[in-house]
Amino acid sequence: MPFRTLGDMHLDHSYADAFPELVHAAHAEEQPDPQLVVLNEPLARELGLDPAWLRSADGIQFLLGRGGNRTVAMGYAGHQFGQLSPRLGDGRALLLGEIDGRDLHAKGTGPTVYSRGGDGRGALGPMLREYLVSEAMHALGVPTTRALAVIATGRKIMRTGTVPGAVLVRSAASHLRIGTVQYTRLISTDMELTERLCTYARERHYPGLSSHEEFFAAVMDAQIATVSQWMRLGFIHGVMNTDNTTLSGETIDYGPCAFLDRFDPATFFSSIDTHGRYAFRNQPAILGWNLARLAEAMVPLIEVDTAQELMNSFPARWEQAQATQLARALGTDDPDIGRRWLEHLETNAPDLTESHRLLNDDPDAISDPQWVADWRALHPQPMEHPFHIPRNHLLDSALRAAEAGDLAEFHALLAVVTDPFNDHGVEFRGPAPEGFDDMFRTFCGT
Ligand code: AMP
Ligand code: MG
Repeated sequence: MPFRTLGDMHLDHSYADAFPELVHAAHAEEQPDPQLVVLNEPLARELGLDPAWLRSADGIQFLLGRGGNRTVAMGYAGHQFGQLSPRLGDGRALLLGEIDGRDLHAKGTGPTVYSRGGDGRGALGPMLREYLVSEAMHALGVPTTRALAVIATGRKIMRTGTVPGAVLVRSAASHLRIGTVQYTRLISTDMELTERLCTYARERHYPGLSSHEEFFAAVMDAQIATVSQWMRLGFIHGVMNTDNTTLSGETIDYGPCAFLDRFDPATFFSSIDTHGRYAFRNQPAILGWNLARLAEAMVPLIEVDTAQELMNSFPARWEQAQATQLARALGTDDPDIGRRWLEHLETNAPDLTESHRLLNDDPDAISDPQWVADWRALHPQPMEHPFHIPRNHLLDSALRAAEAGDLAEFHALLAVVTDPFNDHGVEFRGPAPEGFDDMFRTFCGT
């Protein structure tokens, strides 16, 4: 039976109950004219929520964090672009509670004690961007937070100019991050809180494991599994700070994210990432760097030598995951064929997604006939490559139209990218027109 009224709701508060030190009671601000822009009905049903109720005035208030439930802002720290910020936390978001062990969380709900001068709000464009890209990632099979709804608030907010405000509601295995563990070390003098948090996260995300060492290795493997899929698909997260690296391994916080079109490993898009720290090719190394920050925060729960050994195992674990993803892309784990394919991509910089599709549809169109002949001779296994990713130029255009009040393009693109293994037509395929990438910059935190 789905929940049909607020009275039926059974949100759990296991985290807020267990960690009063790590949360602040906080309330969502009242919104002048809330309008539901997009609702993920299948996800609502999965969570046991009645879509018809969520569309009602009461349901919308619930989504906005104003249903009368207990709401908290979560504290965390984080290394941002290499610098430690000791106190970040939910500056514009609230944890509404948990349903069946998954967090329900609303972003753009107004200022909290963690806002650090920010307005606590979200802009419609970026909230819709997170909705669409996270749902596309889910459809592509990548571990990710899910998007439940975007509600326009009726507020005009200040960014570069005035833009419509909005709240995004998402669900996640949890919102625990490497930065949450770092935060416990910064606000306490002994290891008690850190130990309790790591135990809670282990029991919640990796039941069956029993030691801190196994927990650390499980986080490492989960993150490697996720980021290695980003690399196969050409996804650039854009802000791989330790506060945006989850303990569950789910991809989180789609700010200045983008997909590669033409294969250029140096690609980065974020306007604030001026040195390209989070460029496509750097993502594995940055993941290793972030995991080292987790290891540091966990010492001496994990002995320092053991932590070092675990970190030393990262390159081999990464290589293994990357080889798995390459074999998945090519239908063969032949290392020479894999190496020459990567050389082909780097030398010719073709569109990554279309190149993968050619392996399925028309290998003879690949510009290295010798490679194709050698690859064929290996009798590759069937491969499953998406026709569609959220193309930067299409998403950009859809978000501009949405900000101007027209959601048709957004809904059309959403339908395509959430069904990426069926061909929805050439207009949704292929790279941006020449010159688009040079001027394309995505913005985060907006
Ligand atoms: P993000 O880059 O979105 O992961 O956010 C990094 C940090 O900045 C988090 O602590 C956010 O809560 C905070 N933040 C981002 N935007 C705002 C805003 N408009 N108002 C207050 N805090 C914000
Ligand atoms: Mg974040």
